[in-house]
Amino acid sequence: MSPRLPDNLDRNACAALDARDPLAMFRDRFLNDGSTIYLDGNSMGRLPKAAVARLQEMAEHEWGTILVRGWTESGWMESPFRVGDRIGQLIGASAGEVLVADTTSVGLFRLMTSVLRARPQRRVIVTEVSNFPTDLYIAQGVAELLGCEVRAVERGALGNALDGETALLLLTEVDFRSGERHDMGALTEAAHAAGALTLWDLSHSAGAVEIRLNHHRVDLAVGCGYKYLNGGPGSPAYVYVAGALQEELRNPIQGWLGHDNPFLFDSEYRRAPGIRGWMSGSPPVLAIGALDVGIDIHLEAGPRAVGEKAGLLTEVFMRLARARLDPLGFEVATPASSDRRGAQVSLRHGDGRAIMRAVADRDVIGDFRPPDMCRFGLAPLYTRFVDLWDAVERIAQVVESGLNRQRQYREEGAIP
Ligand SMILES: *Cc1c(COP(=O)(O)O)cnc(C)c1O
Repeated sequence: MSPRLPDNLDRNACAALDARDPLAMFRDRFLNDGSTIYLDGNSMGRLPKAAVARLQEMAEHEWGTILVRGWTESGWMESPFRVGDRIGQLIGASAGEVLVADTTSVGLFRLMTSVLRARPQRRVIVTEVSNFPTDLYIAQGVAELLGCEVRAVERGALGNALDGETALLLLTEVDFRSGERHDMGALTEAAHAAGALTLWDLSHSAGAVEIRLNHHRVDLAVGCGYKYLNGGPGSPAYVYVAGALQEELRNPIQGWLGHDNPFLFDSEYRRAPGIRGWMSGSPPVLAIGALDVGIDIHLEAGPRAVGEKAGLLTEVFMRLARARLDPLGFEVATPASSDRRGAQVSLRHGDGRAIMRAVADRDVIGDFRPPDMCRFGLAPLYTRFVDLWDAVERIAQVVESGLNRQRQYREEGAIP
């Protein structure tokens, strides 16, 4: 896509971009009250209309009348693999490399533990100090459990931190605060050159930018279902284990459904081959059904088109923000180069928390991450270019009118 943006980027120019947007039709697939400008799809995606029907059907028909037979007749038992393979298509993985299971946090634990057990000579996990908290906490816990070390360094020092002691490079591709995107190919190569494996957290990448795990020879990955993939609150996460590692690495949570034949009810664990061995317990069938609907829409739109629109949305938002919001004390914190950012723009402002709360009362939903980061997730499937114009205008009006100085916006309390 990438049409050149007009010099005069006004509301009409934004409407013209919407008129030319090849993904414009997908907006109507999501429930929308017509007034809220929702720029928080990076925290929780909108509800796909078809998910309502799917959940109703699964509850009434499958659960209600097929009952326990649903495990086979309705494909419940297969659903983590079937939907996993479809997520694989979105993230550049092969069939049999992705499983829907648990939360991202639990997936991180399982993958990190498996690597450190498989590489007893290497005792260090290299990561970034500003990584997402759960990634750091899980790494700290795993290190304590297995007697290893977490080497958390600044982004620019990652290359030098990799050495012969490194078992794993653990990174989140798109930074949750700034929206900055790592060079997955170069960092994976650097880790491999040091003899280490890589574990990428795709929570802010999948459904936002094009990802090519196989192409970059990524070893392991995790990601969550409820952000850009629109799986809904409590949506399960997924794990990716490259085919070449599936024999060597072992799931540390040896549950019955990861057994080669769970229904023998054998007393000895015998690991199932392939990604099946990464199952532990029963899959969250209803939640996987809802997630599948979100994946459907992404596959229909295509990850490349989604990534291209993300690049354009973020560029437009940054240009509007520089013109209208910089003079009001904001500063764009997201990289200018479209291949170095996700589908998110972050603006620093010293009074960001109060501003975002006041802006929410004017029907613009973004969020805030301390100390000063106002975050806007521009989910490509349902965000219009005119929404960006209107949002920037309302943010400017809040600050110009001093609304953020009012007492109700200044009290402590988090924006979720
Ligand atoms: C949202 C997010 C998670 C979520 O973890 P859960 O355990 O699924 O709640 C993990 N990592 C990153 C980088 C995230 O952005």
